[in-house]
Amino acid sequence: MYFLSYKTCIEEGDLVIAYISRENMTPLIMDPKLTYNNKFGTFRHSDMIGKEYGTKMPSHNGRGFMYLLHPTPELWTHVVPHRTQILYIADISFITTYLDLKPGSIILESGTGSGSFSHSLARNIAPNGHLYTFEYHEERAKAAKQDFERHGLSDLITIECRDVYKEGFGITDLVHAVFLDLPAPWDAIASAKAAFKQKRIGKICCFSPCIEQVQRACASLNEHGFVEIKMFECLIRNQEVHTIPVYTVKDAVSKIKVQQDKKRKRNEEEASNSKAAKSPRIKQDPPNLYVSKTPTEAKGHTSYLTFATFLPVLDDEIEIIDKVNELD
Ligand code: SAM
Repeated sequence: MYFLSYKTCIEEGDLVIAYISRENMTPLIMDPKLTYNNKFGTFRHSDMIGKEYGTKMPSHNGRGFMYLLHPTPELWTHVVPHRTQILYIADISFITTYLDLKPGSIILESGTGSGSFSHSLARNIAPNGHLYTFEYHEERAKAAKQDFERHGLSDLITIECRDVYKEGFGITDLVHAVFLDLPAPWDAIASAKAAFKQKRIGKICCFSPCIEQVQRACASLNEHGFVEIKMFECLIRNQEVHTIPVYTVKDAVSKIKVQQDKKRKRNEEEASNSKAAKSPRIKQDPPNLYVSKTPTEAKGHTSYLTFATFLPVLDDEIEIIDKVNELD
């Protein structure tokens, strides 16, 4: 499948994201024997095969249409079968930027969960990076592995079924960044520290829904010598776009006159029930100005993001520490 590159034409076996609206998308694996039904009609896979990704597809029975979209990590996050809570785009984009991920980065992730974040990570580090991801729930690990295989990501992702609290990551001196989405990240920090490339600066992020978890994670990061410990929270603010008319002075004066005339007319009608004089009219609709308003309330808390930096221990520092120890 094509999460890392783009193909034009839909073929049998391909994944298509059937887009009805932002809130209504479905993943379809093209099989000419199947038909997809929704309230907008009947869509035969055989009609979709051979079409270009991006096509506006009318239903077979003419009731409506949908769009046939090419899979991307962002769309996968919308349609992934939820086996756990997942990360969404606001947090994903913030974390990948703040962890300094780039093509070639080697990353450690736990738990894998539904693999929503793993898909974005894989695209960030392609083509020559690697993601090591750990999940202790056997069924979830299996399902995520299957998704990675189907989506052409198995060369980039190694998934292992393992309890990282009890067994650690089993990786040393290898990774540039670590991401922990675990109920007790502090129990995995010692092992994560060992996984960092020991002679390079590295970044870690712990994703925790409660402030108490943040406090414990910070304490543990501090204990293990991580520096620049910072916590962020991503909140979503929708921008509501409105249009307001922009009047010229002449039109504004004319509009006021119209209003005054209407008022006068009403008053006169009330007083004498007689007909009012004709009011001047604005000949044309004024041009519109687009303005954006943010609601005061900010929704969208998923978790707190705690970041910290791993500092390498340099050879001459080790010598100094050894000498100090000898003196002691
Ligand atoms: N970030 C993932 C995503 O975007 O799809 C979701 C991760 S989910 C919230 C947390 C996962 O951590 C669960 O699937 C859980 O089974 C796993 N987990 C919890 N404790 C673990 C442990 N000790 N070792 C490995 N995985 C663990």
